[in-house]
Amino acid sequence: MDEIFRFGDEMGPGKVLHIYVPTLGLRSVVAVDNTACGPSIGGVRFEPDVTAEEACRLARAMTLKNAAAGLPHGGGKAVIAGDPKMDAQHKEQWIRAFARAIAGLQDYVPGPDMGTDEIAMGWIQDEIGRAVGLPRELGGIPLDEIGATGFGLSVAIDVAAGTMNLPLQGARVAIQGFGAVGKHAARFLAGKGCRIVAASDTKGTVSSAGGLDIDVLIALKEAGKSVTEFAEGEKGGPEAILGVPCDVWIPAARPDVVNRENAGILDTRIVAEGANIPCTPEAEAMLARRGVLVLPDFVVNAGGVICAAIEYHGGTESSAFGVIEEKIRRNTADVIEIAKRTNASTRDAAIAIATRRIDNAARTRRWG
Ligand code: NAD
Repeated sequence: MDEIFRFGDEMGPGKVLHIYVPTLGLRSVVAVDNTACGPSIGGVRFEPDVTAEEACRLARAMTLKNAAAGLPHGGGKAVIAGDPKMDAQHKEQWIRAFARAIAGLQDYVPGPDMGTDEIAMGWIQDEIGRAVGLPRELGGIPLDEIGATGFGLSVAIDVAAGTMNLPLQGARVAIQGFGAVGKHAARFLAGKGCRIVAASDTKGTVSSAGGLDIDVLIALKEAGKSVTEFAEGEKGGPEAILGVPCDVWIPAARPDVVNRENAGILDTRIVAEGANIPCTPEAEAMLARRGVLVLPDFVVNAGGVICAAIEYHGGTESSAFGVIEEKIRRNTADVIEIAKRTNASTRDAAIAIATRRIDNAARTRRWG
C-alpha cells in the first residue's frame, strides 16, 4: 500500500509533502497531521536517517501535544535528510530551499528541532515570513534560554505532588539528562524547596542524599563539563541514575530509556516525562501497577511549544510564563483526575482530553 495511506487514520495526516531539489540533492518530507484546532506547528528535524514515517508519527505527536495544551494549533513536522553539521553556507542554502518549497503550505508553521536552531528559523522567516523559535532580535522568545519546558515540568510536578500529599519542601528529585530541560527543571524545583539528589549526563551520574548545589552543577554544564566533575557526591555510570531513591524522577534525555528491563529499578513516587517518549508503553504500565504516578510527556513537557505559540501570536517572554503555568497546571490536574475517575492510565486520559478538543474543534470547521 502507498506509504501515505499506511500511516493514515481518521485524524490525519491531512497532507504529506515530499520535496526533492535535484540541484542541491535536498530531500525532505513535511507532514501536516491535523489542523482542526488551527495551523499546525512543529519542528524541522535535520538528521541523516529521517524517514517519511518518522515525519508522520512526530506530526501526530504534535497534534496531540498542541491540543492537550489547549493551543489553537494542529500538529505538523518536517524532516530533512542530511548531516546537520554540513558546512554553514551549504546548510543555509538547503534551509532556504526547503523554506521556498513550503511557501505555499500555509497551514504549517516550522519551528526548531534536532539539527535546526533559531538561526535556521531566521532563514525560513526571511524566505517566507512564517516560523517560530526565532532569534530574539526577530521577535523570538528563546525558550531554552528561559527554561520554558523545565518551568512547565516544575508546575506539573507541583500539581502532582499536591494530589499525593507529597510536600515539595524537601522532596527528593533525580534528573536524567542535565541539558536545556533538565537543568531548568532543577532550578525551578529547587526554587520550590525540592532537594536535587541526583543528576546525570552521557558521562555518568552524581548523587548526594543531602542534595546537590544546583548553581554549581549548572555552571559546570555551561562550561562544557560533565555533572560527574562536581567536586562532591557519589559518582556512578549513566545508568546509576535509574536506581537513585527519590520522590520525583525526571527523564530529560532520550526516548525509551525506561523499558521493560529496567522499569523495576526505579525507586520513586512520580515520573515526570521531560523527554519525549522516555518510557516504553510496557514500562509506563509497570510503573502504574506499582503505584508510581507517570506524568505523560506531551502534557507536562509542552512548555516549549506553548512558548512558541505565544511568540507566533506576538506575546512576550513574561506573558509566556503565566500562560505555561495556567495551562500546565490545569491540564495536569485534569489528566490525574480523569485517570483516577475512569481507572485509565494517565496517558490514555491525556489522549482522551486531546482527542475531545480536536473533535470539538473539527465541528466548527468546514472540512473537519
Ligand atoms: P539537550 O541536548 O539540551 O540536553 C540533553 C542532555 O541529556 C544532555 O546533557 C546530554 O548529555 C544528556 N544525555 C543524553 N543521553 C543521555 C543518557 N543516555 N543518559 C543521561 N544523560 C543523557 O536537550 P533538551 O533540549 O534538554 O531535550 C531533552 C529531551 O527533552 C529531548 O528528548 C527533547 O526532545 C525533549 N524536549 C525538549 C524540549 C525543549 O524545550 N528543549 C521540549 C519538549 C521535549
